[in-house]
Amino acid sequence: MEKHTLEVLISYDQIIERVKLLAETITKDFEGEELLVVGVLKGAWIFMADLVKYIDLPMEISFVSVSSYAGARTTSSGVVRLLCDVDRPVEKRNVILVEDIIDTGLTINYLKRLFSVRNPNSLKICSLLDKPSRRLADINPDYCGFSIPDEFVVGYGLDYNGYYRNLKDISILKINA
Ligand code: 5GP
Repeated sequence: MEKHTLEVLISYDQIIERVKLLAETITKDFEGEELLVVGVLKGAWIFMADLVKYIDLPMEISFVSVSSYAGARTTSSGVVRLLCDVDRPVEKRNVILVEDIIDTGLTINYLKRLFSVRNPNSLKICSLLDKPSRRLADINPDYCGFSIPDEFVVGYGLDYNGYYRNLKDISILKINA
């Protein structure tokens, strides 16, 4: 049976401090405008919930659900599938796609293309985490919480095989056989 070790990489307090700054920047950038904030399920749910609390603008929220990792794997299959689409119109809206982490970039690249053709007024990407060293698609977040090394992380919404999403901190997961 697998044994897991967790090592805290970013504490909850550090996350919240950074989330507040991201929200302040977004509030300034979109002063006088309305937003459609779209969370990418399931990983971004806690980040999104905290982020929108600190954005001082009128907004609607919605979610998309995609699958890119399956089962107990810690590497991307590279195949992105849309499982559930937004329930709000996108045309002429200021859309912010909220991701938990950008790794290869294939997921967010797929979503960016999907939303671009729906004629939003603007389309920005906000990701809590970024692993730039593993990028395959030519894409970067417009708003980024933390750039992290090439490690598999869990907590604050991010899972391993469905578990650990409820942990407050973001931790590196080591799998010991
Ligand atoms: P990408 O398409 O950029 O390779 O992967 C994006 C998705 O892969 C993320 O939304 C997330 O669900 C998953 N992912 C990538 N790296 C990690 C990681 O270190 N930990 C977890 N839990 N998920 C990851």
